[in-house]
Amino acid sequence: MTGQRILIWYRNDLRLHDHEPLHQALKQQAQVIPFYCFDPRQFGYGSFGYPKTGSFRAKFIIESVADLKQSLQNLGSDLVIRKGLPEYIIPELVKAFDIDAVYYHREVTSEEITPEKALEEKGVKLRSFWGATLYHIEDLPFTLEQLPELFTNFRKRVEKDWRIRSTYPTPPILPPLPEIEAGEVPSFPDLLLEAPEISPLAIIKFPGGETAGRSRLKHYFWDKSHLKSYKETRNGMLGEDYSSKFSAWLSLGCLSPRYIYEQVRKYEKEVIENDSTYWLIFELLWRDYFRFIAAKHGNKIFNYPGLQGLHIDFKEDHDRFEIWQAGETGYPLVDANMKELLGTGFMSNRGRQNVASFLTKNLGISWLMGAEWFESMLIDYDVCSNYGNWLYTAGVGNDARGFRYFNIPKQSRDYDPKGEYLRHWLPQLKFIPGDKIHEPWKLSPAEQKLYGVTIGVDYPRPIVDFFKSVKANEMIYNQALVNQKNLKL
Ligand SMILES: Cc1cc2nc3c(=O)[nH]c(=O)nc-3n(C[C@H](O)[C@H](O)[C@H](O)COP(=O)(O)OP(=O)(O)OC[C@H]3O[C@@H](n4cnc5c(N)ncnc54)[C@H](O)[C@@H]3O)c2cc1C
Repeated sequence: MTGQRILIWYRNDLRLHDHEPLHQALKQQAQVIPFYCFDPRQFGYGSFGYPKTGSFRAKFIIESVADLKQSLQNLGSDLVIRKGLPEYIIPELVKAFDIDAVYYHREVTSEEITPEKALEEKGVKLRSFWGATLYHIEDLPFTLEQLPELFTNFRKRVEKDWRIRSTYPTPPILPPLPEIEAGEVPSFPDLLLEAPEISPLAIIKFPGGETAGRSRLKHYFWDKSHLKSYKETRNGMLGEDYSSKFSAWLSLGCLSPRYIYEQVRKYEKEVIENDSTYWLIFELLWRDYFRFIAAKHGNKIFNYPGLQGLHIDFKEDHDRFEIWQAGETGYPLVDANMKELLGTGFMSNRGRQNVASFLTKNLGISWLMGAEWFESMLIDYDVCSNYGNWLYTAGVGNDARGFRYFNIPKQSRDYDPKGEYLRHWLPQLKFIPGDKIHEPWKLSPAEQKLYGVTIGVDYPRPIVDFFKSVKANEMIYNQALVNQKNLKL
């Protein structure tokens, strides 16, 4: 060792594989001190009063940190854990333990940048790395300012000349820590939270950590070979394997996107290369794109007029919002998905698109309320993907395609043709046969009796008329366009 001491500040990169800060520090033969800080701001409340980190994600974080600690211990090191503001704790550690520099993966959004800037101002010697995306920011074929506003244009440009960097290997051994109290992984009460109540109907399990993330990939790619049919199944809603479920591990960095990419390429060589293998990479590019958009547009992604600066007159109707949250809207597709979110902390991509469309295009409620609810609830919450997708669904993102909405009953028929997903999450509807389950409000009194369900008692009547509410919200949207045009004149 050179006698240098480097603090590896772990954040949303809770892994040993493909970790450039760790790799570069070891290359310099430094004594590395891996460090994770539970920042109370992350466990505070959003502007609509929901916990920023709900108990499903808190569980995932606790497990991921514990897994990292164990893996570091297995290699001869340990994870130093503290609770507090990193911009105060890190300078104290630097001073107390003669630390020469702090290495970390940099982030792009304001709350994450705040401690980075504060540390810089305090004169801590920092070295940051880019590691959250498949494509390295410095390898993009354009500057951030020139980043295409439309995903398709972004994708076409980056696909033209693939430049994905290789992963950094997992170190085989690590130097021991100096004399320092390592600290314990906190429990739920330490974070002022309760353990989540996981629904008995939950099918998918999300154990946190790099070990579990890698075994999920092994299961999906290699043990079950689901990758070869991903494109056909990815729009499903029920079951463990219709899609990869990598998102939770990606969001905390337990899985590196470049590692997934390398494994896809290996699969293409060893098993099959087809539309499905391409499509998984295509989806990872969506993830990249939202991160680069966030880096380009800064806090605009959190403002309700969004990237278009379009002031749609959204309502903050808390009573109706609670009905949406609880899955009591009377639209089975929306309700089943919202109940899944409440009971598991997860929802499929198809589900997310539909419930977000219903909130903004039928109920006319502010997309920011929906985004904050997702932020609180989702195990896989990722600030860029969440706010980016909400902007997009609410019609204030960067796709100027006018007022678009999801036809919920049609989506229900198309993506859950036998109603299996609906019956799973809404057992009170389980005896309604065939197609009728998608629009239970159309059942006659005799049918309701026959199928053991009274609409308005066992299951709610629709909160709004579907097409009338779409029309009303389209008018509000069009008015916003007119106002925007007038302002520009
Ligand atoms: C309103 C809304 C909010 C969302 N919030 C989040 C969020 O907070 N965190 C999050 O990771 N994803 C979010 N998504 C995107 C998407 O729904 C999830 O990534 C996906 O459902 C996760 O399941 P999976 O890993 O099985 O996906 P797969 O279909 O297996 O896709 C593989 C990976 O590609 C990426 N990906 C796929 N679709 C998208 C997309 N539309 N946007 C960005 N990345 C994508 C994810 O990293 C995913 O793990 C949101 C989508 C919507 C419509």
